[in-house]
Amino acid sequence: MAGRKRAQPAAGKRAQPKAGQSAPREDDPNAHAYSYNARGLEERTGRPAGDGGSSSRKIRVLDSTLREGEQHPGVSFTNKQRIQIAWMLDYFGVDQIEISPVISDDHREATKTIIKQGLQADIVSHGRAIREDIDVSIGCDAKWCAAYLGISDVHLRDKLRITRQEAARRAVDTVEYAKKHGLSIRFTVEDGSRADPEFLISLCRQIEEAKVDRISLPDTVGIMHPAGMYEFVKCVRSEISVPLDVHVHNDMGLAVANALSACDAGVDQIHTTIDGIGERTGIPPLAEVAVALTYLYGSGNDFRLDMLQDLSRLIEDYTGMPPYDSKPVVGSSAYKHKAGTHLAAILRNPAAYEPIPPRAVGNRRRIVFGGLAGKTGAAYLMSLLGLETSGDDKQARAVAAGLKGLGLGDLIDLPVDDRLEKKMTGTNK
Ligand SMILES: [Zn+2]
Repeated sequence: MAGRKRAQPAAGKRAQPKAGQSAPREDDPNAHAYSYNARGLEERTGRPAGDGGSSSRKIRVLDSTLREGEQHPGVSFTNKQRIQIAWMLDYFGVDQIEISPVISDDHREATKTIIKQGLQADIVSHGRAIREDIDVSIGCDAKWCAAYLGISDVHLRDKLRITRQEAARRAVDTVEYAKKHGLSIRFTVEDGSRADPEFLISLCRQIEEAKVDRISLPDTVGIMHPAGMYEFVKCVRSEISVPLDVHVHNDMGLAVANALSACDAGVDQIHTTIDGIGERTGIPPLAEVAVALTYLYGSGNDFRLDMLQDLSRLIEDYTGMPPYDSKPVVGSSAYKHKAGTHLAAILRNPAAYEPIPPRAVGNRRRIVFGGLAGKTGAAYLMSLLGLETSGDDKQARAVAAGLKGLGLGDLIDLPVDDRLEKKMTGTNK
């Protein structure tokens, strides 16, 4: 990594879309879609979506790859890997990085070392809502800590075996203890989406009075619908004024949608992990969230989106778990074009089938030639092989028919490098 502090974006700064623009621009194929998004967001939030400028409402990202991510079955990082991940996340531009020093001596060492790096992101030292865990954070020289406590009846009764009164007492005591020692503290009301709303609000009010710095609203078992998530957050937002985080699990595949819905209702920080790893089905992946905040919300983050695939590869290297190939943004198929009609359009203008250019997120466009290539795909393949095609498309049709007739499926899977891009016509930014 080049330097300790994140460098100011210069050449790496990408042109940001105008997410809030309501008048479609003729030259932007996404303009009408952005326009629907902007109108929908304005209706939902009462304010226009940002354009990435200084007036935009910024939605922050806390990355928990080092805490939640290590709870993914089979994942365990070495300290060297933890430090490398923290550096890369910081360079990418997340606002907070969460790690749990209470897991083991090894984690405590990693937390201390990462805090010493002086990264731009806050390092949030995570533990239970007990004084001993706050002491561990203090011992790591943390400036930020996070404490969690299950507050739903099932957690109180069957996990913690304490009453609501005892839970509230512990929460307030933990917050006061952290504040007394000069720490900033985020409090996670674990399983909050399944807690009695009256108790939830009452507990949030009590920790707000104890000067908690942030409250994290979790959907711990991933049970929420995005519309319900909106209501859940609204219910707290209307009573509590401290900044809110959202921590949502992906058990029904709705984590990203729920996180964004929570933002529409007033949350300003989303928890992510690289590739979405975490307990069970994990939490929102950093890549999808960062792209959505940039392109759909114009939230004014300073992300180096072109690092996204490298971040994913880093985790693949360290865990031995490649992301599934159709994974949005970073998957190997995310920019792969196969069907003949798609190939024909892509060769003229990739925007025909790509929402954002692959280079913007560090991915590559790939084209697949085989039974579905069609005559345009076949003609392009022939030109790549240096074969002249006659003025009519007779030969290309014959090759397309041949590819289909072979019945062998995908024959060639070709990354589109600079040289090939030059062979493609139309815009290709
Ligand atoms: Zn979690």
